[in-house]
Amino acid sequence: REKATFFRLVQASSKKMMLAYMDRAAAATEPEDAAGDSPAASTVAAGCATATDFGGMVTAIPAAVVRPASSDDVANAIRAAALTAGLTVAARGNGHSVSGQAMADGGLVLDMRALRRPQMQLVVSPDGSGARFADVPGGALWEDVLHFFVKNYGLAPASWTDYLRLTVGGTLSNAGVSGQSFRYGPQVSNVAELEVVTGDGECRVCSPSSHPDLFFAVLGGLGQFGVITRARIPLRRAPRWVRWARVVYASFAEYAADAEWLVTRRDGDGGEEVFDYVEGFAFVNSDDPVNGWPSVPFPGGARFDPSLLPAGAGPILYCLEVALYQDPDDEDKGGVMGKRVSRMMAPLKYVSGLEFAADVGYVDFLSRVNRVEEEARRNGSWDAPHPWLNLFVSSRDIAGFERAVIRGMLADGIDGPMLIYPMLKSKWDPNTSVALPDGEIFYLVALLRFCRGGGPAVDELVAQNGAILRACRANGYDHKAYFPSYRGEAEWARHFGAARWRRFVERKARYDPLAILAPGQKIFPRAQ
Ligand code: FAD
Repeated sequence: REKATFFRLVQASSKKMMLAYMDRAAAATEPEDAAGDSPAASTVAAGCATATDFGGMVTAIPAAVVRPASSDDVANAIRAAALTAGLTVAARGNGHSVSGQAMADGGLVLDMRALRRPQMQLVVSPDGSGARFADVPGGALWEDVLHFFVKNYGLAPASWTDYLRLTVGGTLSNAGVSGQSFRYGPQVSNVAELEVVTGDGECRVCSPSSHPDLFFAVLGGLGQFGVITRARIPLRRAPRWVRWARVVYASFAEYAADAEWLVTRRDGDGGEEVFDYVEGFAFVNSDDPVNGWPSVPFPGGARFDPSLLPAGAGPILYCLEVALYQDPDDEDKGGVMGKRVSRMMAPLKYVSGLEFAADVGYVDFLSRVNRVEEEARRNGSWDAPHPWLNLFVSSRDIAGFERAVIRGMLADGIDGPMLIYPMLKSKWDPNTSVALPDGEIFYLVALLRFCRGGGPAVDELVAQNGAILRACRANGYDHKAYFPSYRGEAEWARHFGAARWRRFVERKARYDPLAILAPGQKIFPRAQ
């Protein structure tokens, strides 16, 4: 009866919402707290924002938007969908996908930001080890996780994304990478336990030791196997200060050699000194604010003097970015850390004189992309389409990729940052659903296009992304799409490779046999 009541409510609301969607402006004014503390089924609400995403290139109008207050609400929505032919359910984090992955055309969208229970809380391991964890709702923003645990406990997760206004469930459904990944692993390697509502409407708690198959399926699982309603994330003491440094290269070969040397330093007791964060990006040899040196801001502006570049420097330069965290017990902020960083960077072959450093608070360091967001909102490029392309490219092929794609096809820039930095496969658990290239070292290549008026049409940029993917295939580069967007089984099977695809299909049959979940990924059609 509960199911039937819930679904009647969804149906009743759908009609109203279809009308609301016709008036986009009116529907978009849905207040954030509309769900309030009302009982389970009352969390149905409108909001045409869920019909689009950060990419701004796909529109899919749902039948209804459900704002779950608890995992029971999520389970009820999924069970209700199972009773209706063709009805699908998409968990929506913060809608920062770029190709409609969090949408449900004619289905139910679960607005996971509404999830209030469980509340964020600290969990201390009962095993006497003193290990501490963050228990957080799947719809929590990483930014909120950071602020809550640093402010209340002086603790923080080890692994982040560059930008923190993403949800825990959203990044864990992909991977969650940043400059910390080479050392601490991606976010999917930093989870102790999940609460998941699977496609049959069952709520299960899973971990590496309890229901491990479900646990690993969900991590990087593109939302296919269950909705993450709670995650338990290991915490460590948060540093207060970070020494953040940048150096510039005119040669990609030297840049890549140094970056790989840094990420393969031996960590741990008696090991070598290792940075906490290693990233990097390509930029056009100009002071253009969108494609040149200022494209990835640095504290204090850090004036770039091109006269220091060697003769013959090409149109594309490379910036290696590192950070060292202050030991929380160490009172000294600048002196000791500054000396350590200089010592660690001494063997690097960057262009002399083109080095920059700043001491910043830990929270400020992790919040650095907020400044980019503010500027992009001001100039309108935040709300414009984002035909982004993210790839993992094996170290084996990165030199060829750089020559053919970055210096070849993208030598004028992409109207946004071009991230390119290495990480280590051994920090990723092969049991998760994430598909990676072969080989221990691979690069994240992120082409983060911010369209502004006057540039090429979005269609042209999408076509260029297609051409890049074709070039990767034609040249036999060992690569995988990150945030893949494919159509049809054959493309997905190629993405995963035969063995992983078989496992993915088996896991789908086990946890979401009707293929209700995450239809926006366009992997499995809803079983009737
Ligand atoms: P959504 O886009 O809402 O959802 C993504 C997918 O996950 C969908 O299929 C959805 O159905 C599913 N999903 C969402 N919530 C849940 C849940 N609770 N349970 C199960 N499935 C769920 N990524 C990085 O790795 N590193 C970065 O540094 C980084 N920086 C970014 C910067 C910007 C400005 C933007 C826009 C994106 C960035 N991303 C980065 C990409 C980001 O990780 C993805 O967009 C990711 O999808 C998370 O966004 P979201 O929380 O809005 O999820």
